[in-house]
Amino acid sequence: MRMIPYGRQNLSEDDIRSVVDVLRSDWLTQGPTVARFEAAIAKYVGSQYAVAVSSGTAALHLGCRALGLKRGGMLWTSPNTFVASANCAFYCNGDVSFVDIGKDTFNISPTALEKKLIEAKQRGQLPDILVPVHFAGQPCDMKEIFALAKEYDCKIVEDASHAIGAEYHDSKIGSCQYSELTTFSFHPVKLMTTGEGGAITTNDKGIYDKLMMLRSHGIIRDPDRMNGTSEGDWYYQQLDLGYNYRITDIQAALGISQLSRLDQFLKKRQTLVRRYHNKLSHLPVKLPIVRDARTSAWHLYVIRVDEKKTGKTRGEVFAALRKSGVGVNVHYIPVHTHPYYAKKGFQKGDYPVSEKYYEEAISIPIFYDMTEDEQDRVIRALEQAL
Ligand SMILES: *Cc1c(COP(=O)(O)O)cnc(C)c1O
Repeated sequence: MRMIPYGRQNLSEDDIRSVVDVLRSDWLTQGPTVARFEAAIAKYVGSQYAVAVSSGTAALHLGCRALGLKRGGMLWTSPNTFVASANCAFYCNGDVSFVDIGKDTFNISPTALEKKLIEAKQRGQLPDILVPVHFAGQPCDMKEIFALAKEYDCKIVEDASHAIGAEYHDSKIGSCQYSELTTFSFHPVKLMTTGEGGAITTNDKGIYDKLMMLRSHGIIRDPDRMNGTSEGDWYYQQLDLGYNYRITDIQAALGISQLSRLDQFLKKRQTLVRRYHNKLSHLPVKLPIVRDARTSAWHLYVIRVDEKKTGKTRGEVFAALRKSGVGVNVHYIPVHTHPYYAKKGFQKGDYPVSEKYYEEAISIPIFYDMTEDEQDRVIRALEQAL
């Protein structure tokens, strides 16, 4: 039997048609479709501006650059994330440290954050940027984090790679009500896709202008922003060291079409989540919690295997599930435990809540195309594995 994946994109005939339309047009890269995609993202999340880029990683890197992170600067994120949330600081020659997660939220803990900020202030080593990651699609405690950021004078980059469409109080993640900017990823395993791709949203015109410039080599064409006067219509100037982080019109066309289907994607995920909650509640595993005043985008459905309750390790349950054709995965290996980070002085034991969570976590399949039959197969496999 075919392995049921933990996540998978869905492409419709409409998605394919929009891409083909661009292929037949005059523009392949960075043309009118990218601008339309950006307008659609900003409208959907409720931000003033959106900048589409080549990946979620590029979005994080540009975000750090636009906020001025450089040598001697410091970024804090939680260890329970993909390495890109932290690596972006090193790209800017800055430094990284971590704040442990909450025991049940798997997101950065505001209590741990406050404690670390107090200590950092005493040492005169406050961070420049905080990167709260809306893990699995569940929004972080943004009000608390925002208040701390104001008090300690740090900027906030929300890593919303898992959370396009998620809601926090009265706004969508990406509206940047509690941050300087928010980044998204459109990798095929995420909630919607452009192949590779990402975006940044912000309400700050200055940040927006910087992002647009850095996305394309640090070059500007607007005579008003030039040093001295323009030498003619061909003229441009490089004002800063930027990159080629452009997304193509081909990808943006897919993005527009996928974004128009996002609410449908999210609704299906909620249905699958309700079924998992109901049908797994009798098992001796911990299910993900649903928190007040927020709607998760349910990028991942993570169960936790407590060896004391199940008599089986996470590794044993994981192997049994894979053996019965269920494509489970683990999110995430705590970033600070990777060899690259160990070389920088981080050690096992530094962030015990993330490490304990990691020892127990299994992401079970959840994706738009998943049928009830497939979901029942996952549930049966889990019952047997336990
Ligand atoms: C996927 C992901 C990224 C990186 O996005 P890419 O588009 O793959 O570069 C960053 N942070 C988190 C939390 C992610 O899940």
